Amino acid sequence: MPTTEAPPDSRRAWSLTGGLLWDGLSDGLQDSTLHTSGALIVDAPEGGASILDVSGLTLLPGMIEAHAHLCFNGGADWRAVYDGDTPGGMLLRMAGYARRMLDAGITTVRDLGAPTALVIELRQAARQGLVVAPDLLVAGAPVTISGGHCWFMGGEADGVEGVRLAVRERHQAGVDWIKVMASGGNMTPGSDPTRAQYTVEELRTVVEEAHRHGLRVTAHAHGVEGIRVAVEAGVDGLEHCSFQTPQGSVKDEDLIAEIARRGIVVSPTIVGSLAAMEGTERWAMRANLVRALFEAGCRVVMSTDCGIPNTPHEGLAASMETLRRMSGQDPLAILRLTTSTSADLLGLADRGVLQPGRRADLLAVEGDPTRDLGALQRVRLVMRDGEVVYRDRV
Ligand SMILES: [Zn+2]
Repeated sequence: MPTTEAPPDSRRAWSLTGGLLWDGLSDGLQDSTLHTSGALIVDAPEGGASILDVSGLTLLPGMIEAHAHLCFNGGADWRAVYDGDTPGGMLLRMAGYARRMLDAGITTVRDLGAPTALVIELRQAARQGLVVAPDLLVAGAPVTISGGHCWFMGGEADGVEGVRLAVRERHQAGVDWIKVMASGGNMTPGSDPTRAQYTVEELRTVVEEAHRHGLRVTAHAHGVEGIRVAVEAGVDGLEHCSFQTPQGSVKDEDLIAEIARRGIVVSPTIVGSLAAMEGTERWAMRANLVRALFEAGCRVVMSTDCGIPNTPHEGLAASMETLRRMSGQDPLAILRLTTSTSADLLGLADRGVLQPGRRADLLAVEGDPTRDLGALQRVRLVMRDGEVVYRDRV
């Protein structure tokens, strides 16, 4: 049975010996011993370091999930569960899902939609060692029009002055990102994913106000209309970016080229239900789009939208395999997306690569994930911030 070590007082020095290592950047594996001291990777063993024998395993950087909803349960009954929660109950569920993600080797999670106060409390509790969880980057309640997509999270704001105030409130509350619903969504009755929710002027105000406070904006945008408005307004990131129409995903070459030219970060949200669509027309359309995003040189991060139906919180590795099949990229490229590239594009220079001076956020798996992403589903050890938070026969 896997055992779990409890922080906070387990923070110490380790030497992980006997295994192979993929550093987050290289083309292949190295034979290497990795040393940690406190929260960081160091280049030489610390006196008194404890030995962890990882023979037969491969070490790699902790994975980054760029689009999560810790407040949803991943099931068909998500909305009834959400509506039925007390704030305390919701916070405990969020902490539970966060723990499952960490045990799956996901050491950093960007939550892009939850009640603001709850998700900030969870982030702080994790940083204080009160709960064992990935490091969280949070957006709080997405900014949305009255009655718009995910209005029930508490983020409704209308008009230029309304959205300006909404950004200021989130900044004051301490969010890491601003999430704005540029189009309708699939999960909110009465909202249309193929239509824009805000005007360019309103979205530009969101971007200007966020940038004034040193925050970046990522826009939920399914349909072409929402994507176009968000791009014109100068958002930093696009979620989903699925070019959705009533007929499926239809790519717009000019708009894709503009997304690439502006360096907008694209978070493709590879949801769990996509895997079952392989071989269908819908799959082919989405795959065609995803390939076009890569070929145009768009800056893509790895994300799943976990928490929504059919998309379990700990399902990142399975979605990476789906993205590999869709995109035609090799396992190594998908692994880089989920580690060093996501760290870079999300502004997290302290992680994503196993090298001295970076955070000791890592996992050990059975097999070679640079050739077979299935290895990521055989996690044997997870370390976050230099603490062993999950171990199974290690
Ligand atoms: Zn989402």
